Amino acid sequence: MKTSKKAEIDAKIKENLVTSGTIFIDKFADILKANNGSPEVNSHYMQRVLHSIFFIGYVSKPRVYPEDFIPESVRESFKKKFPGPFRDYKSHVPHQTPYSILLEFMSENKNFNGPNILMQELWEINKSLWKTDTNIGYQPVANDFTATVIAYSCYSDIKDNNNVKSAYGSSISCRGKVPRMIMIHISVLQVWDLAISYAVCQEGNSPALVFPNKVCCHAFSFNCNRNCFLEVPPCAKCNKSFRDVKFNPSCENPDDDPTWPYGNCAENESLNKLLKGCQDLRSRILTEKNTEGNQMDITEIETMFKKEKEEKLKKTLKNLLGSQNIPLRETNGKLQSFQPM
Ligand SMILES: [Zn+2]
Repeated sequence: MKTSKKAEIDAKIKENLVTSGTIFIDKFADILKANNGSPEVNSHYMQRVLHSIFFIGYVSKPRVYPEDFIPESVRESFKKKFPGPFRDYKSHVPHQTPYSILLEFMSENKNFNGPNILMQELWEINKSLWKTDTNIGYQPVANDFTATVIAYSCYSDIKDNNNVKSAYGSSISCRGKVPRMIMIHISVLQVWDLAISYAVCQEGNSPALVFPNKVCCHAFSFNCNRNCFLEVPPCAKCNKSFRDVKFNPSCENPDDDPTWPYGNCAENESLNKLLKGCQDLRSRILTEKNTEGNQMDITEIETMFKKEKEEKLKKTLKNLLGSQNIPLRETNGKLQSFQPM
């Protein structure tokens, strides 16, 4: 590719990333303000969103610095109010993408009776997170941080009078192969329940996780052309990895091999949160039977993950971070991750 053409493309990618980040920060500040929560809670979430955006900007190509995301008129006040993200964006890893933090805020701080009302609010939010090009309808030209798919999982907790426990998750929402792979590896190594991490690493191969009855999972994908969320079936990998989950709608093409990287799907984050929030459900997870008829329980799955997967994943993450000149830092075997003040 000619140098001038490449420079032109890079400039466009950078412009879209900066615009997406700036709009996201602005909109998230509005959401926090409208919620009337405590200043401590608002600051906690804003610090995490800023740090996540700054980190992703730094590991993107071309690189974007924190200052680029914050308009000059408010830059100094942001630095004073939220020094942590400006200090730690290249030394500490985030645990979630900005959209996943937004989704966590929405689902934990507002009362939604089921997914439909939340999806309606997210639809409004998504529209405002985009810079759209009026010449091409609703197609966004800058939406690097918007999640395409949201998943909702639920479980009737037998140990708790069959009360329904639910959890939301989003697909990995950042643009570019390296940032995306970095975020997936962080999730697998440090954020998700190790049973989910193990299943994700199996990439649809045996042994799959077997869920107890009564676990459901619905996913919604934002359709740009129709400007709405539509229910979507799980991909073949999720369908194979998470056995006996009642996916609605069910998987259409169970033999297809999806083209996106393993770990990208919203189902992972959603089922992970469901497991973390419900110990009884967690304790009922098993792997499917192997040829000798043996199954692993949750403790054995964790041991297997640590034995077979962890080191390799860490090595890949180290290389991915290293390619962006970030050393992999650990404290007591854990990745050094951002903690809001
Ligand atoms: Zn999937």
